[in-house]
Formats: sequence, C-alpha cells, structure tokens
Amino acid sequence: MPELPEVETIARNLREGSGIQPALPGLRVRDAHLFWERTLACPSVDEFYQRLPGQMVEKVWRRGKFLVLSLNQDHLLIHLRMSGDLLVEGEHDPVAPHHRLLVRFDAPYRLAFNDPRKFGRVWLLDSTEEIFLSLGPEPLGEEFTADALYSRLMERHRQLKPLLLDQSFIAGLGNIYTDEALHRAGLHPLMLSDQVSPEQAHRLWEGIRLVLEEGIRRNGASIDWVYRGGDFQNYFRVYQRTGNPCPVCGTPVERIVVGQRGTHYCPHCQPFL
Ligand SMILES: [Zn+2]
Repeated sequence: MPELPEVETIARNLREGSGIQPALPGLRVRDAHLFWERTLACPSVDEFYQRLPGQMVEKVWRRGKFLVLSLNQDHLLIHLRMSGDLLVEGEHDPVAPHHRLLVRFDAPYRLAFNDPRKFGRVWLLDSTEEIFLSLGPEPLGEEFTADALYSRLMERHRQLKPLLLDQSFIAGLGNIYTDEALHRAGLHPLMLSDQVSPEQAHRLWEGIRLVLEEGIRRNGASIDWVYRGGDFQNYFRVYQRTGNPCPVCGTPVERIVVGQRGTHYCPHCQPFL
C-alpha cells in the first residue's frame, strides 16, 4: 500500500514529467471517462463530467497519502489506497485492464487511474479543506518539530504503532515506514504514547523524518502493490524481515500483530520497558 514516499514520488513524476512523459501542469482537461463509477467519491458522475472539462492543471502536490491536482477552479484529490496507480499515457494507447478513470487532455495525452482492487477513490472539490482538516501534521513539514510531536504524544494514551498509523495523529505513515521509524528510534511498538520521554520523542521525530526522506530519495518501496521503480525495500531494517538479523545488533527480527497489522521490531534495540 503506497505511503507518503510512494505518493510523493508519483506526485513528483506528474509534476515534472519523466522521459517522454509530459509534466501535467499547464495541460487543460478535454474530458473524463469513468469505467468504474464507484471510484468517484464526490460529486455525482454527471456533475464530474460537466465540471472537469476546460479546467487547467496548475499544481500537483501531496498531503498525507492524498495526491492533489489543483486545477484553475477545483481540486482533483486521489487516494490510491491498496493498489491504485496513476499513469500518463498517449491518447491512443489501448485501455489496460483495471483502468477505472481516464482524464483526457487538450494534448495527445491522458491520465489513467488504474486500480485492480478498486479501493482507490477520487474527489472533485472546490476546496481541499473538508477532507484535509481531519489530517494530522505533515511529518516533513516545518511545523512538525520534535517538541510538537512530544506534546501530541502526551495528549494521547495509545500504543505507538496504531497511533502512528492514525492519519489524524500524523499524516502519511503506513505499516512500512512506521515499523522502520520505530526501529530507528529504538522504541517498542506497544509502548504507550504518554510514557515517551522528551528524548525518546526526539529520537522518534528524527526516525520518522529519516525513513521518509530516505524513502523519497529511493523513489519509494516497490512492495505489496503495483508501484514500480523504487528500491527502498532493499534497505528495510525490520519490515517483513522476520527472523533475519537486526542490522544494528544481530538479534533476529520478531513479528507481532498489533491492531490487525503485522508489526516487525528488534527485541534488543526496541525493548518493552
Ligand atoms: Zn537490534
């Protein structure tokens, strides 16, 4: 499932173009076609078909795990969920299986939303606020400081793993980057948030930023989903490395289930105190 670094990588490719693939900003929408109507969360299909044509892509950005195409009037929000992917294709390319939405431009290109498992969603909204108001801070944003993280941890009484996965606590983390960040911080996934010391909060803040920055630098991780091109999966320290030696201390990595999510950690580096 794509997390912040994977979504950021897709946003960057759409923003800047790559190879023969054009950058989206500056392109004007000609029309759109849904192959699976439930991909569209909002508005109605009719309204979507009416509002989108003629709008120009001004900006491509990311908030948490949402990808945003800001148009000259509205914003197209896309959440890839389990298996979604965005592709820029030639206007006459054959329509691949699992394409759920095509946005065609006044240029020989189209944007395709491909989603085999159909969990991905698209919104066309005049403001992003309604959706983004409930999201926690951006972990790579300036306002997300170690002090800010510490105060937020103190306000909750929850185990670290599920808390970090909670998008209203912090936006963009999923199973991979949470496990990796907790390992860098030397914190047990079941530790309670309000028992974290200021020094531990600082290590967690550093760990979160480090793994996300490295993930982005490596174009994300190619694992569990259709996304291709990233190689951060070759640098995991604990995620899906059960039984392999911890790269720091050599102790075999263990796996437990926390809130129905497989959780990987080193019992030596991340003791449960
Ligand atoms: Zn270790």
